[in-house]
This record gives sequence, C-alpha cells and structure tokens, in this order.
Amino acid sequence: MIDATPLIRQSKWRIILALSIIAILASISAATMESFFKVQEFDASLVNQAGRQRMLSQRIALGINMYVKALENQQTINDQARMMTTEAANLMLSSHNGLIKSTHSDTVKSLYFDGKPSLDDDIRTFIATALSIIQSVDAKQIKPQDVAQFEPQTLNYLLFRLNTVVDAYEDDAKNHVANSAIAERIIWAMTLLILLLEYIYIFKPTLTLIRQGFIETNLKHNRMQLAADSAQLGIWEFDTLNQTLHWDAQMWLTFYESAPQANLSSFDLFEKRVHPEDKEFVISEFMHALQDKRVMNFTFRIFTPSQLLRHIHVRSILEYDDNGNVIKVVGTNQDITEQKNKEEALIEAKEKAEAATRIKGDFLASMSHEIRTPLNGVMGMLGLLKNTPLTQLQKQRVEVANSSAQSLLALINDILDFSKIEANKIKIEAIDFDLHKLLAEVVDSLAQLAENKNIELILDAVKVETSRVKGDPGRIRQLLTNLLANAIKFTHDGHVILSASLTSYSQDNWQLNFSVEDTGIGIAEDKQSNLFDAFSQVDASTTREYGGTGLGLAIVKRLCIAMDGGINVSSQSQRGSRFYGRIVVGKSDQSEIVAPDFDVSRLNILIVDDNAVNLSILGDQLTHWGIKVSMARSGQQALSLCEKRVSNGLPIFDIGILDMQMPNMDGAELGKYLKQDPRFHPMHLVMMTSMLMDNDSQFMADIGFCAYFSKPVTTSDLFLALSVIGDNGDALRKATPLLTHDFLNSLNSEHTHLPTKHTGSTVSINQQTYFASRR
Ligand code: ADP
Repeated sequence: MIDATPLIRQSKWRIILALSIIAILASISAATMESFFKVQEFDASLVNQAGRQRMLSQRIALGINMYVKALENQQTINDQARMMTTEAANLMLSSHNGLIKSTHSDTVKSLYFDGKPSLDDDIRTFIATALSIIQSVDAKQIKPQDVAQFEPQTLNYLLFRLNTVVDAYEDDAKNHVANSAIAERIIWAMTLLILLLEYIYIFKPTLTLIRQGFIETNLKHNRMQLAADSAQLGIWEFDTLNQTLHWDAQMWLTFYESAPQANLSSFDLFEKRVHPEDKEFVISEFMHALQDKRVMNFTFRIFTPSQLLRHIHVRSILEYDDNGNVIKVVGTNQDITEQKNKEEALIEAKEKAEAATRIKGDFLASMSHEIRTPLNGVMGMLGLLKNTPLTQLQKQRVEVANSSAQSLLALINDILDFSKIEANKIKIEAIDFDLHKLLAEVVDSLAQLAENKNIELILDAVKVETSRVKGDPGRIRQLLTNLLANAIKFTHDGHVILSASLTSYSQDNWQLNFSVEDTGIGIAEDKQSNLFDAFSQVDASTTREYGGTGLGLAIVKRLCIAMDGGINVSSQSQRGSRFYGRIVVGKSDQSEIVAPDFDVSRLNILIVDDNAVNLSILGDQLTHWGIKVSMARSGQQALSLCEKRVSNGLPIFDIGILDMQMPNMDGAELGKYLKQDPRFHPMHLVMMTSMLMDNDSQFMADIGFCAYFSKPVTTSDLFLALSVIGDNGDALRKATPLLTHDFLNSLNSEHTHLPTKHTGSTVSINQQTYFASRR
C-alpha cells in the first residue's frame, strides 16, 4: 500500500499558509476601506457644516433686519426675529467652533485665520454684534455701523468668504477621495500580486506535488500489480469495519480457477476450498493477527475445484486509522505448490544422500577395520619373525613383506582420511610436541627411500627456533610425509629439501611455514591449478609410471586449511617443483620432558582382547620384557579377573591394555566400568584400536584412559609408554590429554633403551619394529 501521509501533510501546510496570507490581505483591505469611508464621512459633514454657516449667517442678517425695522418703525420688539436670530447666532457660533477645532487642512486654516481682521474674527464679531443688537430695546441704542454689517453688501462679502471656505472643504474632500482611490488601487494591485505570488510559489507547486503524488501512486500501484501478476500473487483486503473480504482477479484464479463469481462471496469460497485440517489453524491465525495487531506469515493448503492440492503462502500487513485502530488487513496469497514439491524432493534427495554417505562412511570404517585386522596380524607376525634367527635372504623377504604391508596400510589410511575430510569429520588435536623431532622423524622415515634413488634428502629447520609447540603432530607428519614422498617419487636425481620456519602469528600462536622443493620432473603450468583436487593426477601416464591415487595432495590441502593455513605450488616442467604452505600451531608452555628410565619388568599388566592370536602376540612381547601378564578374552572376563585379584588380597594390576573392538562390551565400555569402581580405579588404562575414530584422544581421556594408540603400535612406543606409565611421574602428568605416539616422540629419550631380551641387552628405541595386535 502507498503511504500518502507525507503528501497530505506537505499540501496541508502549503494551503494553510496560502489561506492565512489571503485572510491577512482581506483584513488589511477591509480596515483600509473603513478608514477611507470614515474620512469621507467626516469630510462630508465638514462641507455640510461649512455650507450651513452661510444659511445661518443669512438667517441672522434677516432676523437683525426684521428686528431693527420693527424697533425703528413701531418701537416694538419683534420676538420672533429675536428668537430666530439668537438661535441662528448660537448655532453658527457652536458650528464655527466645531469647524475650527476639527479642521486640519492648512488651506482652510489660512482662510479662517489669515488677514486682519481674519474670517474667524469677522464671524465672531458678526455673531457677537447680532447678539448685542438683539438685546437692544430702543432703536437709538443700536449703532448704525453695527447694523451695516447685516446689510446685503457687507453680508455678501461674508457669504463670499464663507463660500471660499466651503469650496476649500470640498477641495479637501475631493483630495481625500482621490488619495483613497489611489490607495485602493495600490491595495488591489498588491492583493493581485500576492495572489499571483501565492499561485506561483504555493498553489502551483502544491498542484504539481499532488499530481506527482498521484502519478507515483499510480506508478507504484501499477508496479505492484505487475509484481503481483508476475509473481502470481493474489491480493486480498479485509475491511474490519464492514467485515467484508475483497479478492483480486488472481485470488479468484488461484482458488476458483476462474474469473470472479458474483453469486459466491470470498468468505464462502475460502471455506469451501481450504483443506479441512487447516481451516481451524487459518481462522485462528487470522483472529490472532487482528487481536495482537501482528502480521501473518504462514502456509496452508487448499483443494481446487479439480481437487488438486495446492500449498498457499499468506503474508499480510495491517492498516490503521489515526487512533491506531486496525481498519484493514491487506494480504497476499502465493501458490507455492511447485516450490513445496521441489523442497520435498530436495529433502528426500538430501536424506537419501545423507543415508548414502552414512552407509559409505560406515562401510569405509568397517572395511578399514576388516583390512587392518589381518594386516595388523601380518605386520605383527613379521615383527615377531624378525626376532627369530633368519638367513640373509629370509630377512630381506621379511623386509619386503613388511614394507608392502606398510604401503597397503598407508593407502587404506589415505582413503579413510579422505572420506573423513569429505564428511567434514576431521578433528585437529592440540598436543604438546617437539617440532624439531617431528621434522627429523619425517625425514628419517623417508631417508631410505631417497637413498635408494640416490637423491639427497635435506632438512633445513634452522629457522625453527622454538622446538616445543602445540598442534596435531600426527596430521603435520602426514602432510609433510605426503609432500616429501611425492617429491622423492617424482625426482630421479638431484635433491629434495624440506624447509621449515616459525614466524609470529598471534599472542598464542606461531605460523609454521614449510616448503618441499625437488629437482624432479616438475608439473606443467596448465596442470597446476587442479593439482589439489581429489583423484587428480597430472596425466594417466603418471599413474602408469609412478602409481598413486591422486588423493595425497587433496588431503594435504584440506589438512592445511583445517589448521588455518593453506598450500601453493610453483613448478616448471623438467626443472622441479616447490610446494610451500603454512599452518598455525600453538605456543607451548611446557619445557622439554625427559623420558623416565623405568624398569618395566616390575609391572603387572592385564591385557584384554577377544582375539586369541592377538593376546598371545602381545603377551609374548610383554613376557619377553619380563613383565607379569594376565589375559582376558572379553570385558566380563577382565572384570572377574580384577574381582578375583582384589578378593585374593592382591594389589590391582598396574596397567590394563584394552582392545577397543570387542563384542558385547567394547574397550571404552570396559574402561568406564574399571574407572567407576574405586577398587580398580588405580589401574592405568591403555587403549589400542584398529579403527580410526573422531576426536579419539579426548574421548578416551574423558573416560579415564591414560594412553591411546592406533594399531599397529611400534615396540619402541609400547616400551616407552609402559615406562612412562609405570614411572607415573612428571612425563605422564604432562601428557595432555593423554599419552600418544607423538607425545612419546617429543620426549627426550636418549638414555632409554629397548631390551631385546629380558636378560638385559638393549637396542635403540628408534628401531621401528612394529608390534601389531590382531583380532
Ligand atoms: P598421488 O597419490 O598420485 O601421488 P597426489 O595428490 O599426491 O597423488 O599427487 C597428484 C599428482 O600431482 C601426482 O600424480 C603427480 O602427477 C603430481 N605431483 C605431485 N607432487 C609432485 C612433484 N613433487 N613433482 C611432480 N609432480 C608431482
């Protein structure tokens, strides 16, 4: 709806102003005219009075002559003449005084007062002489010169002079009339001018404003109609005063599939068309919108005459009168059936996709478990095989078998990782670790590969001035290993350099910059842009020649992003490549921790695994180190072993090593039971899992586990973990949230040695013999 209030307000003030000016003008004109009339009236009375002076003087002269004649001839007093003269004389005097007093005209004044004797003197003498003659009772008393004043000759002179006064008054009056005529014309001219100005500055702009308003209103209305038509919006109006509902044509089309019907009211039609289940809801929404003075915004269903179900979306606004009462509800109805159908189809598709992803995820997780389990067995057996006397050839074959198993494990890990990243399930941990050691370890792990190809592998970590940082060492190792392995793979001669530096990022964080540079085959420029996409390899021949899945760089990039960083490449075909990136790591508040030198043979350990082979391999290894081992095939059996131990008065096991994947009661559940029971609480728990889980470390730590390893675990890790747990000192306390491979890796363990036999001879713990447990 269009808001006309500003237009009305603007026009109202303009009209008020114009009318006020006209009112002021009219008042001024009326006042001026009135004063003109007064002046003219006054002038007329003056002329009249001046004229009467002549008549009075003649009457006086007549009276005197009659009086004197009567006295002279009959010696009688003519009372009539006396009365007439006295009356006329008094009237003339008072009239004269009045004229003198009220005369402002200089001409008249000079006529009255100029000369000696002046007219004023003569008039007064004339009157005084008349009054004195009239008092005489004897003719002799009357002076002939006095009587001469009333004789025609002298009187004529007086009359002539009085005439000039009357003329002067008349001239004055004429002047006034002429002046007021000019003033009148000026006033009229001014009025016309002001009216003209009002027209130009007030009426015309107001008219333009109103016209514009109408044009705009029309335009808006047309646009609204156009918008409503093109959006197929039906518009309705409910008048609260008359309780009438008005529909536009589109409303009729939506509800009735035809033009407006005269014999059907909108109300009736609405009731007929609305879906029975929605009727109460729509009416209640409408009533509430009216009562609470709020807008409507909801969807309901109708049935068309051809029994089609349509979804209608209603929106409404309220219109108020000046007192804030609702006078109208104006609304739009939009048929959103198509949209609704699409939404439903989308939701269905989304649910299907989510279910498919879930199935895929579950499938991958179980496949990983299923593949890892036999693989762990293979690797564990190979590890044990290595401890037996072997010929040189057998040793070599064991090595080859071991490295093939590792490649297979890496591939499974890649596929799993990628599916986790795709499902946004990747969790970055914040573990305290030694960056220098990690970098060295990464390079060490690939040194053999480089050496086999006669490539120089160089680590430049000079600019890593702080060794201890906080981050996800597993993921950092994974991405660096990936880049280095690629570099070695695609380089035939020359070198591969891993450079790293730490630069300041924020108060609590460092930026870890890294680059892997090689002198290999390089990557053509046009192939570089989608290098980091999943399953992308430079060309099919690469796969044939070098193998690979095309997942490595996609994982690397996503890991970098997950760690608030990124990665880029610069490369020249046949000249080499440089992958350079950055991630954010936390600043560590821990100083270097020294690995404890603990005699593990003092330990009493319970191992729990549902798989007999698994148990025997792990048991053999621990016994090999002189440790006292108890074994359980299930959670229940583990609990009853613990019960028995306590009831026999024996101290509870120092450590429990639990397998995660067990039927009925899994490792995490068993851990909870053990930690909840105060009798078993002191036992340290170690979790081993062959299934990658999300945010595993924190989950395990929350249950009460103090160490967590994913299978296969190296013998050195296992040995060091048992030392740290057995020692139960500083190193264990600082392992947050719990002991992992990376924490162990960050320990200063130069003096810790792994015994080959419990007889005492040792090897360096850097030996990467895998200790795998099978299910
Ligand atoms: P893959 O498992 O195939 O190695 P990646 O995602 O790690 O998968 O690498 C994708 C492709 O990028 C490789 O197949 C190779 O063509 C190219 N590539 C990666 N690193 C290098 C490198 N250092 N030198 C040359 N080409 C490389």
